[in-house]
Amino acid sequence: MVKFTLILSFLMTGLNTMAFTLNTNFAAAFPGEEVSVNLATHDCSNLPYTNDEILSMATEGVNKFWNKVSTSKLKIRRGQHVSVSSDFESGALCTSNTNGCVANPALSGQSQILISCNSNSTNFSSSGVLAVTANVNTSGVDIIGSVILLNNIDYSPGESALSNLSRESFISVLAHEIGHAVGLGHSPVKDSLMYYANISNRVSLGEDDMDGITYLYPREQPTSCGSVAYIQDDYKGGKPIASLLLLIGLITLSLKTRKKALLS
Ligand SMILES: [Zn+2]
Repeated sequence: MVKFTLILSFLMTGLNTMAFTLNTNFAAAFPGEEVSVNLATHDCSNLPYTNDEILSMATEGVNKFWNKVSTSKLKIRRGQHVSVSSDFESGALCTSNTNGCVANPALSGQSQILISCNSNSTNFSSSGVLAVTANVNTSGVDIIGSVILLNNIDYSPGESALSNLSRESFISVLAHEIGHAVGLGHSPVKDSLMYYANISNRVSLGEDDMDGITYLYPREQPTSCGSVAYIQDDYKGGKPIASLLLLIGLITLSLKTRKKALLS
């Protein structure tokens, strides 16, 4: 019975792992295998880091998390410091959020991933909102550009949750936002980097994060040497269906054994 319970927990864990969500309802993703993270040059005056440190931390974050997934083809690279319009520093990210983000036209021409410090209060409803991200420039199912705005509002001393974070937590926040920028939504699984809250002190991605990034950016399997080709649909639904079938099989087997025991 203990064995059965253990197997059951394992299977239920398997079912829970397919909980990642996407940032768009049409599974948008960057079309290439590489995407760069750039940083706007204007000053992040209310954050305790220089612009260069923030770009370095973003690079650390992608190398610590997203670039480690062997089943995903996506490689996220350090980009450059780029000069952009003041709209990125003071404008709203979305003009509406009722049915997803309707990107502010002033920000929608962006390509690749841009991180920008921003002090528009409509983007941040409280000092606890650390950052906001939207895929502001899409074409069909391709993401052309995404914008990450860091909360740079001048709060009273000690009030800014973003500036109070440890360096490691700041890196996790940047990596979480970059997850949104490449197309992932929130995960309900607590040990995921893409969990909507409490993302501090993460040391690695959760299984859900890896499933999500692999779903959007599957690494092609070699077709030579008789290997089996990768089929995306099987990946998406295969594991839970296999788990369910195995679960039904085990329950049937268990019932049969019990019936047999009662009969004998
Ligand atoms: Zn988020």
